[in-house]
Amino acid sequence: MRDQIEHKVTEGLRLTDEEAFYCYEDASLADLKRWATAVRARFHKPDEATYLIMRIINYTNVCVAKCDYCSFYRLPKSPDGYVLPLDRIFAKIDEILEMGGDFVGFNGGFNPKLKLDWYTDTFSKIRARYGDSIEFYALTVAEMMYVAKLCRISYEEVCRALGDAGVRWITGGGSEILTNEFRERHSPQKYSADDYLVAQETIMRSGLNSTGTMVIGFDESVAERVEHLRRIRDLQDRVTADGLPGLFSFLSWTYKPYHNDLGGEEVDGETYLRHMATTRLYLDNIRHMRTSVLTQNDNALHGLHYGANDFDIPIEDEVTEMAGAVINKNLEEILHQARAEGFKPIFRPTGSAKSTPVAAGEQ
Ligand code: SF4
Repeated sequence: MRDQIEHKVTEGLRLTDEEAFYCYEDASLADLKRWATAVRARFHKPDEATYLIMRIINYTNVCVAKCDYCSFYRLPKSPDGYVLPLDRIFAKIDEILEMGGDFVGFNGGFNPKLKLDWYTDTFSKIRARYGDSIEFYALTVAEMMYVAKLCRISYEEVCRALGDAGVRWITGGGSEILTNEFRERHSPQKYSADDYLVAQETIMRSGLNSTGTMVIGFDESVAERVEHLRRIRDLQDRVTADGLPGLFSFLSWTYKPYHNDLGGEEVDGETYLRHMATTRLYLDNIRHMRTSVLTQNDNALHGLHYGANDFDIPIEDEVTEMAGAVINKNLEEILHQARAEGFKPIFRPTGSAKSTPVAAGEQ
């Protein structure tokens, strides 16, 4: 198996599921590092890594989905439930601009009080106030699905309305592990993997951009991790075959097991690096692999040696912070760590984050 993968990396050939399994379970870390670095070099300069300064704006914590791994949500009528008013959202955006960032991601819950017009009104006002000086991920795929179902309209109609309101991105959040079985175990109200992928394909076919995401460290099996990757690679093949840009990037987070029903333990650093390398090797049709400073701190920057080429410098995300994430707001310290790993960190303005298909020569 080792020689087989070595050959494929050298020749630029696609990995099978069985080979991905081997990478997760049996390959040495030294091999993974070398292979992932070789594949990374097909897409990016070897000594450079891009980053963005961002914050997640958790616009509401009210949610009816009740995922057992979630530490963030409050049910409707809870005294702790909130919806952020627009002036608080503006203040949060102003703050990230002052810090030199230009990117925010919106992430909330399945709040039955917020219909489509709340989102279109909010996002159109943000676009009117800030123009192109910021970019934002408006909702996750899962939240977009909830709005469609709540308002009894199609995914296409939600995407069209959001696009008209100035939205350009619906990020691939809410995917966690994309198998139907995993979602039945932990988040039955958050839609099946099949439905999720239909929604994400609709987003991209509607002219909006999207990203791939995966969270490891629950109780998922290696087979489920590989199935997630296969479903994402197949989706990317389908949309790019029709000349669409496809998923801009693939971001790997790790589950934080505190203050929720599921509990458990955090994955160790080596598991994350194995996963990062495996994603870089297997997802040969996605250009950018993103490593998560938000959930992995320093270990995320080791991930730059295991196939990642891009990292986030987050200043806020209530969802992961409530589950145990500790955010380092010292931007210079994070950049210093990237340099110490041997990479020149390059700020990536999010206006540059246009999806581009992977060219034939890069595969
Ligand atoms: S993970 Fe998201 S969808 Fe699930 S309960 Fe938490 S806020 Fe709701």
